[in-house]
Amino acid sequence: MSRKQTDAPKACERRQQKIQQARTGKFFAFGDIFVFAAALLLIVAVTAAALLAPKAEEGSVFTVYYRNTAIFSAPLDEDGLYLFRVQGGEARVTPFAEGEEYENGNVIEVADGKVCVREADCPAQDCVFRGKISAGEILCLPHEMRISVHGGAAAPPTDY
Ligand SMILES: [Zn+2]
Repeated sequence: MSRKQTDAPKACERRQQKIQQARTGKFFAFGDIFVFAAALLLIVAVTAAALLAPKAEEGSVFTVYYRNTAIFSAPLDEDGLYLFRVQGGEARVTPFAEGEEYENGNVIEVADGKVCVREADCPAQDCVFRGKISAGEILCLPHEMRISVHGGAAAPPTDY
């Protein structure tokens, strides 16, 4: 084997490699645009989500939900005692009188701009241990009850 015979195909190979590199380079350039566009879209989406998402800021109103349906709303700047009670598959929130007896209920207390479940007859008492909140939610799974704090002007968060 002489050198010339082996060099010829090598040169040819080299040219093909160069063409391939050029093609690959172009492909990557297009890929970069997509990556850039995707990153831009992601930034826009994250910014939009941050702007639209309900902020965990202090709310001025609380809403009580039973089975994801809003049944009661009241302002947080008015101190009060309310009784959430489930009876016959329906739930109601009524003003609570100290010492009043109840079944399947949660006593909701509003004081100092915060809301809490002061007492309840659910087994785990998670809602009571949640404490006073001025933002976010209190859940009582056994009673299928949820208290959500939100802004006064904005509509209460819908079902989810
Ligand atoms: Zn509870």
